[in-house]
Amino acid sequence: MKRPTSVSVHRRSSSLEPPIPPALLIQRRNSAIHGHGVYARVPIPAGHVIVEYTGERITKAESDRRDAARLVRARRGHDTCTYIFHLNQRHDLDGRRGGNVSRFINHSCAPNCCSELRRGRIWILATHDIFPGQELTFDYGFAFRDWADNPCRCGTTNCAGFIVAENERWRLRRLASAPAPVRCT
Ligand SMILES: [Zn+2]
Repeated sequence: MKRPTSVSVHRRSSSLEPPIPPALLIQRRNSAIHGHGVYARVPIPAGHVIVEYTGERITKAESDRRDAARLVRARRGHDTCTYIFHLNQRHDLDGRRGGNVSRFINHSCAPNCCSELRRGRIWILATHDIFPGQELTFDYGFAFRDWADNPCRCGTTNCAGFIVAENERWRLRRLASAPAPVRCT
């Protein structure tokens, strides 16, 4: 499963680099959501470009191969982390190699950040004011297809229970409201 980049309205910017070095803004720590998380060191205002999502540029074929291998590992109870991000029609970015601290930002069903594609590069922006010590999160935007492989532990009031893009969570709700299957005896 890959993290699709939300292509929102591109704001005009004189520079693509974050105005403040990310190391001054954020740090990696253990997270209650999953493994490591990324936390604000200082107040970060909504709209701020926090950090670039970097990683190894790989073809779609290689990306599919790595994701299939991850699912095999996950179903054996091993590491389920994925750091692959949709970049464009031909390439993805794998943050596992050549990535930075941004790859540890966890998913949340009520996130305070988003991802945005600007001129072929992926950036993480604050969508809300973030206070020091608060964990940064964004919507991984996973398709509904593999929902069962991606449980969510974000702990928010409206957590969908699984990491599924906000615009597809209605499918999870429909599953939850479906009658239990009839069992033959
Ligand atoms: Zn959740």
